[in-house]
Amino acid sequence: MSVKCYAPKNMEELFSELAKMTPESKIIAGGTDLNIRMRMGLTKADALLFVGGINEMRQIVEKDGKVEIGAAATMSEIAKSPLLQGGLAAIADAAGDVGSAQIRNNATIGGSVANASPAGDIIVPLFLLKAEAVIANSKGELRCLPISEVVLGPSKNCLSYDEAIVKFVLPLALPGRSSAFVKLGFRKAVTIARIGLTVSLNVGADGLIKEAEMMVGAISLVPLRMEAAEQYMLGKRPDEAVETVGRMLSDLIMEKTPEEFDRDYKVGAARGAVDDLLKRFC
Ligand SMILES: Cc1cc2nc3c(=O)[nH]c(=O)nc-3n(C[C@H](O)[C@H](O)[C@H](O)COP(=O)(O)OP(=O)(O)OC[C@H]3O[C@@H](n4cnc5c(N)ncnc54)[C@H](O)[C@@H]3O)c2cc1C
Repeated sequence: MSVKCYAPKNMEELFSELAKMTPESKIIAGGTDLNIRMRMGLTKADALLFVGGINEMRQIVEKDGKVEIGAAATMSEIAKSPLLQGGLAAIADAAGDVGSAQIRNNATIGGSVANASPAGDIIVPLFLLKAEAVIANSKGELRCLPISEVVLGPSKNCLSYDEAIVKFVLPLALPGRSSAFVKLGFRKAVTIARIGLTVSLNVGADGLIKEAEMMVGAISLVPLRMEAAEQYMLGKRPDEAVETVGRMLSDLIMEKTPEEFDRDYKVGAARGAVDDLLKRFC
């Protein structure tokens, strides 16, 4: 079967190429997931629509008091963006932790979100920081959805075959907030997350935590909020909270992954992940 290729150069062309898609067609960005699946015969496509040539889909910009990350921005571009610091730094941290340099130069944020893997690093801070996805369809329309309505579970997203994610929109961080992401995995250079942990904190001049939000990825179908840990951290120094929050994370892993082959590894590694994360705020 011959595969048709579409490579729109702007949003107008994207809308008209989306109209040519069939239920067997695929969007392609960096190809780090899709090429492997196609080579293994797990995915077949009658057409591929490459979104990497659309300038608007590659930009990381501040607009109308929000930060916008184009869906075709690569992990390397995201990791070094000056707009993703302070309260939004967890996004850059997660992008910088993806695979190897070669993978990061190709893998895109839109591909990761569409892939919806529980081990997708960047998905965890996108949930924490309340990102919204702007989605284009073949009728020339755009719709905006919270990330939690886009990522539905392993390989499951809300997109129809004739839709593409155009960008992600992030509210600017609240004053005084900083965020961070850490992951633990089996190997250092190309690690698939066994735990992805992210936090947004407001630490006062006295060194005590005034506001806290925390989420964990890779232990359930989509990232989980750690509300008990958020409450516990209030009024404490970040380093003072490590032991208890580490125990809370171990308990959550025990509860959520009763059958998983690597549960003991995750439980054992939980305290270390919390230590790595919270000590960044001391
Ligand atoms: C060796 C290796 C190591 C890896 N390590 C990590 C890691 O450490 N952490 C991690 O999170 N991931 C890792 N990955 C997974 C992968 O790199 C990411 O999921 C990547 O971000 C996917 O982006 P892509 O642009 O390559 O997607 P593609 O392969 O191009 O597409 C993936 C899926 O998304 C769809 N898609 C792509 N863009 C859009 C869009 N704009 N709108 C709608 N649908 C779209 C495609 O149709 C396809 O179904 C690794 C992969 C490899 C091969």
